[in-house]
Amino acid sequence: MPEYKHAIVIGGSMSGLLAARVLTGHFAKVTLIERDTFPPVGQHRRGVPQSRHTHGLLCSGRAVLEKLFPGLSSALVQQGAVMGDTVRDARWFNEGACLARPVSGLEGLLVTRPLLEGTVRERLRAIANFQSVEDATVSMLLLNGDRSQVTGVRVSRGGAEETYDADLVVDASGRGSKSPEWLAQLGYETPRVEEVQISLSYTTRMFRRRPDHLNGDVAAIIPPTPEGKRGGVMLAQEDNRWTVTLISHFGPAAPLELDGFREFARTLPGPYIWEVVKDAEPVTEPIGAKFPASVRRRYEKLHRFPQRYVVVGDAVCSFNPIYGQGMSVAALESQVLDACVRQGLDDAGRRFFAQATPVVDIPWSIAVGNDLRMKETVGPRNAGVNFINWYMSKLHRAAHHDDRVSLAFHRVANLLAPPPSVMHPSIAWRVLWGNLFSRAAR
Ligand SMILES: Cc1cc2nc3c(=O)[nH]c(=O)nc-3n(C[C@H](O)[C@H](O)[C@H](O)COP(=O)(O)OP(=O)(O)OC[C@H]3O[C@@H](n4cnc5c(N)ncnc54)[C@H](O)[C@@H]3O)c2cc1C
Repeated sequence: MPEYKHAIVIGGSMSGLLAARVLTGHFAKVTLIERDTFPPVGQHRRGVPQSRHTHGLLCSGRAVLEKLFPGLSSALVQQGAVMGDTVRDARWFNEGACLARPVSGLEGLLVTRPLLEGTVRERLRAIANFQSVEDATVSMLLLNGDRSQVTGVRVSRGGAEETYDADLVVDASGRGSKSPEWLAQLGYETPRVEEVQISLSYTTRMFRRRPDHLNGDVAAIIPPTPEGKRGGVMLAQEDNRWTVTLISHFGPAAPLELDGFREFARTLPGPYIWEVVKDAEPVTEPIGAKFPASVRRRYEKLHRFPQRYVVVGDAVCSFNPIYGQGMSVAALESQVLDACVRQGLDDAGRRFFAQATPVVDIPWSIAVGNDLRMKETVGPRNAGVNFINWYMSKLHRAAHHDDRVSLAFHRVANLLAPPPSVMHPSIAWRVLWGNLFSRAAR
């Protein structure tokens, strides 16, 4: 029997869908309110412009989605999505070479964002106590008499204003979330914002994938170096396609026109993306985007926060997407939300923020740490960051030929282990040994 009557989720992208899914286990009714009209599965929509760019689902995120929607991965694979070992089947190019590629069992899912999101949405819609209200924009929170508790939301829909009451409201409205504004209007303090400016340009295009490409491997990830500041990600997708995103920090974006796009790919630190795009057939028009900064709102530091209110997903933290972690963070946060609601609704927001902080710390430290290697990046630097980046470059070098070091890195990248795990003595001595060995070999 559900413990509570009604929950509202603001925003129907990945964080909102997954939050709504776990709340259907606790509330008699869950209402998801979304600004857009949902399109058919597989089609883009305005509220998620990033869906036109490369998206991959890490092992940790896939495992949660599979738990929430059993059989989802195989249903997507039947529609052409590609399941792959994120280590054995992918080429991660760091510090001048590929990291070692042992069998890891860390299975990720490669599928276009509209097919993934649309399929999750259809599964959710099939749950009896779930409903969605589309073309509806949440414009304000409603509070009780002494302003201690959120009791619902005000919604603009088709020119009219409506109100919805709820026992719990979850804000999953993404990076542009109005929560800080709403909190300020209601007399609450707003979260401190941490920003790391990375001036990132994205250019994405899809190409026909041939069986001979990359000897059958399904992904190439080439992070930018501090010197070149150019990188790329290329992932296999349904319908025998590659999605290729070329990125540039603090410089001109990769050109949209084909020859310029190919030439840019040739200038990346590693060859794999260029080897494919140099003569592959383009199958979509190119599209560009800007990502000026990683942004983290420190809700966990607030002293006062209204009861019955939670903020999740990109609304809390949105970081450099090159490592493909945002949807997996949304999935892991849904598990934190589930556990918090299981313990009751009192102080659910503050308990959620406290327990979600270590989940967010991992991708934030990976993305920001790596970005701070570029001297142009604007963000808080300290001796610790410099040491970690020095260590990571040594770790990547050792990982070129040491399976265990490579696996330790990939467990962190897949959000399955905390970053300090790569400094465990059993790994650190292999890093030391690997670097001595390679220097001796040179
Ligand atoms: C270029 C790029 C590439 C990325 N690649 C990857 C990747 O490979 N792998 C990965 O895991 N992640 C990736 N991400 C991150 C990923 O897209 C997000 O982390 C993920 O979508 C979760 O975001 P969200 O659901 O919190 O917010 P969003 O996806 O931003 O969705 C917010 C939703 O809220 C709705 N909304 C907003 N305001 C209101 C309102 N007031 N009322 C009602 N509805 C509202 C919007 O219409 C939208 O549907 C990438 C991001 C970018 C920018």
